[in-house]
Amino acid sequence: MRQCIFCMQWKEEKEFNREHIILEALGGKGDKDICLNVCTTCNSSLGTRVDASLLNQDITKYMRYKFKIKGKNGVPNPFRGVEIKYADTPIIGELKVNKEGKIDGFRAKYQELEYNGKKLIVGPRKGFAQYVNSRLIANGMDSLTEKYILENKFEFGKPKNPHIEYVEFPEEIKEQYLIYAFPAMVKMAYEYCFVMLGEKYLKDCIAVDIRNFLMKYDYKKDAEYYSPTRVSMEWINEENREISLKIQVDNNSIWVRIVLWGMVLADICMSEEAFEYKVTEDNFLCIET
Ligand SMILES: [Zn+2]
Repeated sequence: MRQCIFCMQWKEEKEFNREHIILEALGGKGDKDICLNVCTTCNSSLGTRVDASLLNQDITKYMRYKFKIKGKNGVPNPFRGVEIKYADTPIIGELKVNKEGKIDGFRAKYQELEYNGKKLIVGPRKGFAQYVNSRLIANGMDSLTEKYILENKFEFGKPKNPHIEYVEFPEEIKEQYLIYAFPAMVKMAYEYCFVMLGEKYLKDCIAVDIRNFLMKYDYKKDAEYYSPTRVSMEWINEENREISLKIQVDNNSIWVRIVLWGMVLADICMSEEAFEYKVTEDNFLCIET
């Protein structure tokens, strides 16, 4: 029998699997990065309510794409829903990314056609000329000859290879990211503290609050929440491929510092009773993704 550190129930060994403290979808791997005390029921429930809070954010998808971090379904496409121009053409669409994380195509959605100084959005489809004319008439404009329309229609012809040179996240998206990332980060810190500090940690006042928070939090429902503990989070600009968790002791407090890809830094207070534990500050868990 084994006790689950989330529902606190004692269950058969077969109801547990090897859970990576650093989420597998973020590249969690190795033997040091293992917590054996999460039951499969909690694991899947936390996955959809808590882990997804971080994983479904565009910034996470982009970083996974950038570093080619494969989850169960391969590398995610961070460009879904992001409309861009196909090279220097008037065709607008989305980039396609394969499961290896390579851009392998472009899904054309429409193209902008200029007519008498007005912009008309038309789809790149069969029957293009008729379609354009139907749109022109519907918009109170005169129809055009098929020849004119086809001459002004951009053809894909030789495939161009679209690529992304630079992605900058808007400030409000970055602020929001911290709110959605925190629950998954505090979950990692909680599992890490249990592995490092032992069973005693489960009774710690802050551990109890964190556990209660994680058992309830659902990112689809809780746009706002109270943090169960003291935390400071910020964006740093030292981008790298690492994700790390480190235990730090400050007087009577135990903190876990988590750094995601040299990008987001979180200091999370995990206990106010450091004297209860034998803690060494060289506890460091780090993976290169
Ligand atoms: Zn459980």
